[in-house]
Amino acid sequence: MPARPRLIMTIPTEPIGSIPRPISLIKATLAFEAGAILKEELQASDDAALRDTIQCFEATGSPVITDGEQTKHSFVTYPLHGLKNIAADGIPILFTDGHIRQLPRLTAGPFGYRTSADVYLEAAQRYTRLPLKQAVASTSALSLLYPQGGIPGYSREEYFDALLGEQEHEIRRCLQKGAHVVQIDFTEGRLSTKLDPTRRLLRSFIDLNNLVLERFSPEEQQRIGVHSCPGADQGSTHSGGIDYGALLSNLFELQAGNFYIQLASEPDRKHVLKMISEHAKPDQRVFIGVVDVLDPAVETPEAIRDRVLEAAEYIPIAQLGTTDDCGFAPFSDDTSRSRETAFAKIRARVLGTQLAAEALGVG
Ligand SMILES: [Zn+2]
Repeated sequence: MPARPRLIMTIPTEPIGSIPRPISLIKATLAFEAGAILKEELQASDDAALRDTIQCFEATGSPVITDGEQTKHSFVTYPLHGLKNIAADGIPILFTDGHIRQLPRLTAGPFGYRTSADVYLEAAQRYTRLPLKQAVASTSALSLLYPQGGIPGYSREEYFDALLGEQEHEIRRCLQKGAHVVQIDFTEGRLSTKLDPTRRLLRSFIDLNNLVLERFSPEEQQRIGVHSCPGADQGSTHSGGIDYGALLSNLFELQAGNFYIQLASEPDRKHVLKMISEHAKPDQRVFIGVVDVLDPAVETPEAIRDRVLEAAEYIPIAQLGTTDDCGFAPFSDDTSRSRETAFAKIRARVLGTQLAAEALGVG
C-alpha cells in the first residue's frame, strides 16, 4: 500500500486592495481634471504607478497581490466616475475625526456602470503572473445612490434590477478572466449598525448582497469574498468602536466563501474571535486582519505571528487566513499613509503568517 501523501496545509494570506498612490499620479489626476494635461499624459502616469505598485507588491513576497487600486477614484465610486447622470451631493459618510466623504446621487435613469472592475484586472495582468485579487463595490453601498425622494420615470426597482445585473456581470467577468478571488467591499455593514441600532438596515444590506451572491454556484462562491471594516480614511474610521457583535452575528449569512475581517485594531480581539468562531460556517474561510492600517508603526513579523496564533485558538486552521485590516488608501487622494509603510506592513504580514504556520506545524 503506498504511503499516504503528507497533507500540505498552510495559512493563506491576501491584501485587501488599495495602496497609496504616488504623489506624481495624484498631481497628474488633478491636472487632467483641470484640463491642464491630455488623457495620454494621465494614462502614462497611471501605467507608471501600476507597474511600480505591482513590482513593490511582488517584492513583499505576498502570494496574492492586487493592482493597489492605483487607477480607481475610490473603492466604491470607480464604476460611476464619468457618468453624466450622477451628482456629487449624495449620502454623506461621517468619519470620527469630523471629515466627510460623500457618495454620489443618481439623478436620472437608466443606470449602467461606466467602468467595470475587470478592466483593472486586465490592466494588472499585463504586469504580473502572480494571482491577482480583484475588489468590487457592494450592491448595498451602491443602493444608496438612489435618492430618498425617487426619480421621476425611473423607479427604485428599476434601479436595483440594473444594479444587480451590473454587479453579477462584473463579478462573473472578473472570475472568467482569472481573478484569484473577487472581494466585495462591505464597509457599510458595520456603519449601518451605527446608523440603525435596530439592525434593520444591516439586514436589508445583507439581503441585497445575497441577491447577487445567490446567482453564483457554490464553486463560484468559494472564489468570492466579503471585506468588513470600520473604514480607514485620512487616519480615521467611520464606525470604529461600534459594537462588532451586531455585524458579526449576521455577516456570515452572506453566501460567500471568504471573509476579510478587520481585527488588528480591535481593543478586545479575543471577544471578536469568539464571535467569529460562533458564527462562521464550516465552508467559509476567515482571513483575519493582522495589520493595523491606521497605525503608522510597522508591525514585527513576531507580533503578526502571535496574532495568528491567538486566532488559531478560536478558528480551525483549515479555515484560517490573514489579511490587512483594510486597504491602505481606499480613496485615491488619501496621503495620510506612505507607500513605503504599506509595503513594509504587507511584508511583515507575509513573514509573520509564515512564522505562525511553522509554529502550528502547517508551514
Ligand atoms: Zn476596509
